[in-house]
Amino acid sequence: MKITVHGGAREIGGSCIGVQTEDCKVALDYGTRFEESSNNQFPEDFDAVIISHAHLDHSGQLLSLSKKKPVIVGSKITREVTVALLQDMVKVQSQNDYNYPYFKHNANAIREHWWVRDHVALPGMTVNLHPAGHVAGARVISIHSENKNVLYTGDFCVHDSEILEGCNTNALPKKPDVLIAESTYGGKIRSPRNELVDELFSKMLEAMARKGNILIPTFAFHRSQEMAKRIDDAMKKGLLPRYNVYTISNLANKITDYFNENKNFFTKEIQRQKQPFKYSHVKHLYRTGQIKEPAVVICTSGFGHAGASLSLLKDWAEDENNSVLLTSGYLPPDSPLKSAKEERRFRNNGDSISVKAEIEQIELSGHADQLELVQMVKELKPEKTILVHGDIEQAQALSEEIEELTEVWIPEKGETIAI
Ligand SMILES: [Zn+2]
Repeated sequence: MKITVHGGAREIGGSCIGVQTEDCKVALDYGTRFEESSNNQFPEDFDAVIISHAHLDHSGQLLSLSKKKPVIVGSKITREVTVALLQDMVKVQSQNDYNYPYFKHNANAIREHWWVRDHVALPGMTVNLHPAGHVAGARVISIHSENKNVLYTGDFCVHDSEILEGCNTNALPKKPDVLIAESTYGGKIRSPRNELVDELFSKMLEAMARKGNILIPTFAFHRSQEMAKRIDDAMKKGLLPRYNVYTISNLANKITDYFNENKNFFTKEIQRQKQPFKYSHVKHLYRTGQIKEPAVVICTSGFGHAGASLSLLKDWAEDENNSVLLTSGYLPPDSPLKSAKEERRFRNNGDSISVKAEIEQIELSGHADQLELVQMVKELKPEKTILVHGDIEQAQALSEEIEELTEVWIPEKGETIAI
């Protein structure tokens, strides 16, 4: 068996890992990098592509397979959301580039070849998917072939969040020959989630006391619904005062409908509620012009480089009463939010905009931190561990913590490991 890291080596973005045996060649994820859109030249001769979850850095390159038509495997929410994200990508890219090679029917073709399964038999290979706790429908992938067991975490999280149960590592197959693990937070230990949520609310309360606007740039999938639900519940409980709260993202709104229709992906508490993602205090808007200030706005893009979040960042940055709350730990280099936060100014269409608004980063992340990653290695006892999906510093920091427990590899892009 040969394992090749085609993407997501020593970086976050463009995840794709090839597993090749005598009889079968599969890809684990097929994602885009954050900086570019149609960049990765992954092999296209896979018999099957297994998608861990519906973030574009794991699934965004699938359009390039729409003509080859391999079998695609993943959970139902992963299929629904991936297709919605690819359709949106086609819409945005073809507006910017007349030569963009894909159309809506290419995104729809992905849906047609998608098998919604948690168990699949391929030639000489069985594949099992286990809940990963990262976002709705995210899966850890286990492969058995040629008497070898391979476990790929995708993105995963062990601790519970408000709407999703964490990954139950006890249910994962023990002693794999190879564990391929994400290492986003390989070098970081985070505060407990309830403390981070308290911090978020106290920052919101301060901005509300100043009658300021609060911008929360958020991904359309999962983080947007999680944030809206969190704020809605806090207002119901009186933890936050009444305030105008909006979501602005038609894509997020569409995904919210999938969530209401697929409650079984969430915690027991969510499943007990009739329409858990129908909010009392959060309103969906179609454009920023409809906002009644002061307001809390949850909107895309999550990195603040486009859409409503960029336009509100421009409108609100220069007022010190306003606040921007970032919940993602990662910001791509050159993103306006990164320079707004670090340099207190950012460039837009040639203008330099100075930032007086407060910018706070509170990492309410859906990834395992170093303690969770080390604990998983201790429980699973893998023979070899391949670290992917993390900057080299994070991967190395994790490697130092686990190298006495397992043989660690931090491959470069394109490197093949034979087992
Ligand atoms: Zn992810």
